[in-house]
Amino acid sequence: MNFNDSEIVASILQSAGLVATSEEAAADLILINTCSIRDKAEQTIRKRLTELRKTKIRRPGMLIGILGCMAERLKSRLLEEERLVDLVVGPDAYRSLPGLVKETGAGHQAVQVLLSREETYGDISPVRLNSNGVTAFVSIMRGCDNMCSFCVVPFTRGRERSRDPRSILRETADLFGSGYREVTLLGQNVDSYRWVDAGGGVTDFADLLCQVASIDPLLRVRFSTSHPKDITDKVLRAMAGFPNICKHIHLPLQSGSSRVLELMNRGYSREWYLEKVARIREILPGCALSTDLITGFCSETESDHLQTLELMEFCRYDLAYMFMYSERPGTPAARKLADDVPREVKQKRLEQVVALHRGQALESMRRNLGKTLRILVEGPSKRNEKEFCGRTDCNQMVIFPAEGAAAGQYVSVLAESCTSATLRGRLVGETALAH
Ligand code: SAH
Ligand code: SF4
Repeated sequence: MNFNDSEIVASILQSAGLVATSEEAAADLILINTCSIRDKAEQTIRKRLTELRKTKIRRPGMLIGILGCMAERLKSRLLEEERLVDLVVGPDAYRSLPGLVKETGAGHQAVQVLLSREETYGDISPVRLNSNGVTAFVSIMRGCDNMCSFCVVPFTRGRERSRDPRSILRETADLFGSGYREVTLLGQNVDSYRWVDAGGGVTDFADLLCQVASIDPLLRVRFSTSHPKDITDKVLRAMAGFPNICKHIHLPLQSGSSRVLELMNRGYSREWYLEKVARIREILPGCALSTDLITGFCSETESDHLQTLELMEFCRYDLAYMFMYSERPGTPAARKLADDVPREVKQKRLEQVVALHRGQALESMRRNLGKTLRILVEGPSKRNEKEFCGRTDCNQMVIFPAEGAAAGQYVSVLAESCTSATLRGRLVGETALAH
């Protein structure tokens, strides 16, 4: 989401006559888009600012701005805490950036952190930064109304609002026209997407998915994030009905204990979650499933933790993002619950969750060996220019010798070996179909 926001910021600044550079030494203005989700994310930014201090001493005229959630959370305090920062701009105030940049400098600092109930940047075409020209993010909504007790997002990104479907379709069709072959529709809770047009007609997430998937059968459609309490059969049926909607659902579990889920204010129980997974497997057999997990949330006992491991055994996630609970100031959990699980215990539980997941992911990858997989080629792999990487419908990363393929093509690759994170194979042909 931040990546996509940076592309919106680049677009706004470009319209005002500024030009982006990837060379730090050539920059007159450095903007850092920040995340506050865990303390570690904020510490990373603080470290980056320490490095920039040296550059600023050498080039005092250079401006440094902090954007995003950390700007929103700390507001003007950030200017006091990090004296080299000139500009603090929250996620709903990016349109004011050109004006603020002009005002700033020569000792003047600027802060703009007002949150909005309407801003979706719907009319702004993001400038694709560091793009592979094949896959792109498209934001469909902003903010979140859920108030999970551990989460800072509702405070830093404000109220939930959906973007006009016409602007989403326009942006996606433009991407397809410029050669892109995959879009990921982004929102904190895509299942609560809802747009009411002037005549009272409602577009929900399933409707939007169908409309985007109808742009072209060669366009793959992904989305993130689904919320277990809100994902509907209508969405699952839309996925089943369109071969080009990728068969992968990111369904964050957080905890396998109903007691902990209640304290987290997640709005579902262990049983409800299991029911949803069963429904997904029924309507979309073979659909990949990924998740987010938190270990050591307030008052989590060994028995709660075991329930998380047990649920993981059942769900067999293909991918998981796993975190230790990090208390965020001002959240409902920070105000009402004690962060009472010792760090070593959080860490030990995290290690157990990670170990279980690694084994499961490896097993899930191994099931592909010997199979011919359809892949959308994204471009050269990170480590080796002579190899290409691309993803399967189910979101598995596949690496193969580049000869005979081009970015943006759909190809067939025979899977020959794997780790828990990637498959390796060889090209066995080009395919005309996205699925
Ligand atoms: N909107 C998405 C999640 C966005 S945040 C959803 O509801 O699923 C991404 C993930 O960060 C969350 O799913 C959660 O697992 C993790 N996370 C959020 N706040 C956290 C905290 N205070 N400590 C540890 N992990 C956290
Ligand atoms: Fe945070 Fe919950 Fe909203 Fe996700 S749904 S962004 S975890 S409050």
